[in-house]
Amino acid sequence: PPPTLRHPENWCRAFSHFIAQCLIKDFERRPSVTHLLEHPFIKQAYGKDMALRHQLAALIKEQQKLSCQAKSKHERINTRKTLKSESCPDDDLVNLEVLSEEVIISHLQRRYGELQIYTYVGDILIALNPFQTLNIYSPQFSKLYHGVKRSTNPPHIFATADAAYQGMVTFCKDQCIIISGESGAGKTESAHLIVQHLTFLGKANNRTLREKILQVNPLVEAFGNACTAINDNSSRFGKYLEMKFTPTGAVMGAKISEYLLEKSRVIKQATGEKNFHIFYYIYAGLYHQEQLKEYKLPEKTPPRYIDNEHGKVMQDIVSRKLYKEQFDAIQDCFRIIGFTEEEVNSVFKILSAILNTGNIEFAAITSQHQTDKSEVPNSEALENAAALLSIGPEELQEALTSHCVVTRGETIIRSNTVDKASDVRDAMSKALYGRLFSWIVNRINALLQPDKNIWLESGMNVGILDIFGFENFRENSFEQLCINIANEQIQFYFNQHIFALEQIEYESEGIDASLVQYEDNRSILDMFLQKPMGLLSLLDEESRFPQATDQTLVDKFEDNLHCKYFWRPKRVELCFGIQHYAGKVLYNVHGFLEKNRDTLPADIVVVLRTSENKLLQQLFSSPLTKTGKQTVASYFRHSLMDLLSKMVVGQPHFVRCIKPNDDRQALRFCKERVMVQLRYTGILETVSIRQQGYSHRILYEDFVNRYYYLAFRAHQMPDANRENTITILERAKLENWVLGKTKVFLKYYHVEQLNLLLREV
Ligand code: ATP
Ligand code: MG
Repeated sequence: PPPTLRHPENWCRAFSHFIAQCLIKDFERRPSVTHLLEHPFIKQAYGKDMALRHQLAALIKEQQKLSCQAKSKHERINTRKTLKSESCPDDDLVNLEVLSEEVIISHLQRRYGELQIYTYVGDILIALNPFQTLNIYSPQFSKLYHGVKRSTNPPHIFATADAAYQGMVTFCKDQCIIISGESGAGKTESAHLIVQHLTFLGKANNRTLREKILQVNPLVEAFGNACTAINDNSSRFGKYLEMKFTPTGAVMGAKISEYLLEKSRVIKQATGEKNFHIFYYIYAGLYHQEQLKEYKLPEKTPPRYIDNEHGKVMQDIVSRKLYKEQFDAIQDCFRIIGFTEEEVNSVFKILSAILNTGNIEFAAITSQHQTDKSEVPNSEALENAAALLSIGPEELQEALTSHCVVTRGETIIRSNTVDKASDVRDAMSKALYGRLFSWIVNRINALLQPDKNIWLESGMNVGILDIFGFENFRENSFEQLCINIANEQIQFYFNQHIFALEQIEYESEGIDASLVQYEDNRSILDMFLQKPMGLLSLLDEESRFPQATDQTLVDKFEDNLHCKYFWRPKRVELCFGIQHYAGKVLYNVHGFLEKNRDTLPADIVVVLRTSENKLLQQLFSSPLTKTGKQTVASYFRHSLMDLLSKMVVGQPHFVRCIKPNDDRQALRFCKERVMVQLRYTGILETVSIRQQGYSHRILYEDFVNRYYYLAFRAHQMPDANRENTITILERAKLENWVLGKTKVFLKYYHVEQLNLLLREV
């Protein structure tokens, strides 16, 4: 080298790219310093100057160590995508030679029988609900799955959480884990397990923070989950939990976004279903602590809102001591997360007020002139509710039984009929609960917020989506429609990621995209969401007409929705059917308009704002849940878009939960039920795309730089182009690859083969 470059460090820098790489590679193959000292490059550069030769050799050795570390980190992440598992090929459906529904089903069935509930499809995880407690989620298992190659262990939900975490730390990119499946398939349980593993990985020095994060799910689920005909712990809201980490991967906070709580459950539940868990917890807890009086709750017969089976709840509470433990647990959750005693007390008061509100009954006042007036014959419940809400009972009664109308600048007070007064009462209960729920979520977010400065500079997060699963009951209403549209949207997102983006890339690279076949649900989604002629827009339009009825609504749908996914059954009144991605559902439009309008009379808001209870004042001072006169449908559309915008920024990981039977029985595998779910979630297509498709696409330039050792000598400097890519691939004896315009398309197992060859060179 010229004198200016004589120092090995300068030399190394000047020639770094190629020669240093060759030397590093050489050292990797023969890790001997003597060999390095005798290397022709080094000899040529420094002749007899052994000191300089030694210095250069040391530098090369150091460089090799660093590159080795970087590579192994990178490889750890990459293995997740690439692997053909050596230890147990059976773990990944992609390894099946014969690919048919029948084969996949028997495969899953056999594994389920062996209690192997998890199976991979490439990088997607299938989780079959075991309907029994398995001992595979202890901290030892978290350790086992920590930062290892995916093929090291059997498939597991921790491996998916781990992949998301490692992806975030290595590539400094936000991640999101999308859990889907029908009601009762195991989404919420999976979400808990993911949070558990992520808190383990993000080992905050701060133990309290870890404990707090673990309490978030149980707390919001006490308020947002309920027993339905399908699932005893069914999520009645959508939840996106973001766990926030520092760049080094330490957990530093969390944030929940909630979507579309099914508020109507507060006032009415279908037969065999229940209200939100928290009402039972609180009633039972206070009963056993002899505190019912304090919260003005009736002692003999439970409040109407929680007693749709006439007395059964009381039996459960008294004889089986059900719910008491949960009441204690919820109090612990509040305390650990950091709610003050005053706040918790206010929450309990509002819940008790809602239960009392439900017990307010109205009777018609029938005098000579007036038949449309109503009154509250027994004022106990009303007085209790008013006292718990810290408002005047007369004012509350007035707001329930009458309303103000402004006509031509004059304010007139009109009476409410019994029906109308009952509607106002229920609307108040729903609003109280809805706003209380949002307040709790916001408060949790405030308490778990990371330090703003650190966060804004460099924070990253892993988001976990757990929404209410697809539902098809005997009677389906507006709530089921919203839930199913949300699921339709999640399926669309999945399709986009697994199929559509793949297809686009194939086409742009000039590769035959015909093998990317899938059931696209875009047109169903358009039918719902399009403006101005989509179903939700039509519903909103009709909701604006005071004269509209259920009949006019369903006629409007029929007149405007000309699409094969919509039909109007001939013999069933006021019904319409939708062919969803997950099956046909018949909806009854009864109550759609009211539910969509979701009006809370101004008179009620005015009274509630007079409350002396600080929390209640907060709930009604700002529009927490929805603004102004927004309908539920438009709020729903907005939330859905908000959710998507959060999801698209992250690298997605998918967990597909499957319900093996409808009886919630362990080890019962109902082939037909599983088949239906595999079909509509597109699992078969996913297996085939992962198997036949090209999961790795590498730019020619990167490919040649990475693998030229397999076909060229160290000192040759091959151009990083298409021809040399072919040379390398042929020399490596790989088959079934294809060449695009700028990239080589490889199968999922090619990369592993190439890496193995590299190690052997
Ligand atoms: P929904 O859409 O109604 O909210 P979901 O998909 O969230 O349903 P989960 O509540 O997670 O369903 O699961 C239903 C029940 O299945 C759980 O209460 C639990 O009893 C059982 N279950 C699910 N996953 C597991 C698991 N990994 N281990 C043990 N039991 C499980
Ligand atoms: Mg759930």
